[in-house]
Amino acid sequence: MKACILEDNQKISYKEIETPQPKDNEVLIKVGACGICSSDFNRVYNNGAYFYPLVLGHEFSGEIVETGKNIDKEYLHKRAVIFPLLPCNDCEFCKEKSYAQCKNYSYFGSRCNGAMAEYISVPIWNIKVIPSDMRFDIAAMCEPTAVAIHAANKIQEYQNKKVCIIGTGIIGIIIGLIAKSRNAEVNFIIRNNQKEEFLKSLGFTSFGEQESDIVFECVGSNQSLEQCINTVKSKGQIVLVGNPYSDMTLPKKVYWKILRSEITINGVWNSSYKNQENDDWDNAIRFLYENQNQLSMLITDRFKLEDGIAAFNQMKNTDKLSIKGVFENEK
Ligand SMILES: [Zn+2]
Ligand SMILES: [Zn+2]
Repeated sequence: MKACILEDNQKISYKEIETPQPKDNEVLIKVGACGICSSDFNRVYNNGAYFYPLVLGHEFSGEIVETGKNIDKEYLHKRAVIFPLLPCNDCEFCKEKSYAQCKNYSYFGSRCNGAMAEYISVPIWNIKVIPSDMRFDIAAMCEPTAVAIHAANKIQEYQNKKVCIIGTGIIGIIIGLIAKSRNAEVNFIIRNNQKEEFLKSLGFTSFGEQESDIVFECVGSNQSLEQCINTVKSKGQIVLVGNPYSDMTLPKKVYWKILRSEITINGVWNSSYKNQENDDWDNAIRFLYENQNQLSMLITDRFKLEDGIAAFNQMKNTDKLSIKGVFENEK
């Protein structure tokens, strides 16, 4: 099969590698679409991979084209999305189904080969079957959508609350759509006018700093962390979602506000996949499926596997509006 392989820092090649064979409890997925995640940029440009060569890609969907020995043949030709984390199933957190906190996990596209390829073999435990008419590109957004749902669910009550979102990556935008669907007043803090136009096209109307009941930090910078604390009302809640670029430090005056205003700060990591009904992944599939037309607007860049590094360079170019880029395979 053909794959897009990170050979070394900033070096990606498109070449033939061996097609994986499903083990007894695995299914072979013909990848339909695989998203480019902001975490992939660190792997590609900043020596951020655990090892080379590595097939990137952890946000993907596809069709089941082969089943391992122990798998019901019913699964053949079903469409699926795949939870990219491979838990140890042995630690205390796995035992309580908090797999994102597993102490010894593997991960497609990071700690083992991922889905920027024609095929990938995955354990049946990791898949969720999706509707047969769900588009692969939309389904490839299931991972970031599940993360957004997980973050949004840290807050119990949205009705008539003022929600502020700092950051306009795909997760921030989806959190905004969820909060709006739960009847919150949603406001974005952004630094880029192109993004403002884009958010208006999604139906958002409020921008700039405003005192809010709930603030989501979706950037991961000191500046936006400070902005969160300065923006939130007394007794308000902050949800920290963005992966930090560097050490996070706070001036004493800002730190004081957390104490004086009794602010609640929630950390979130990944999503909650339990391989059972109504986990974050089921909710993400439903949300994407019901809003396919609107959410397809988030896919701003489409690539073929052979585009390789050019795809990453295009996504990195900040002159142009980019929300989500996906690699798509032939149907
Ligand atoms: Zn990701
Ligand atoms: Zn574990």
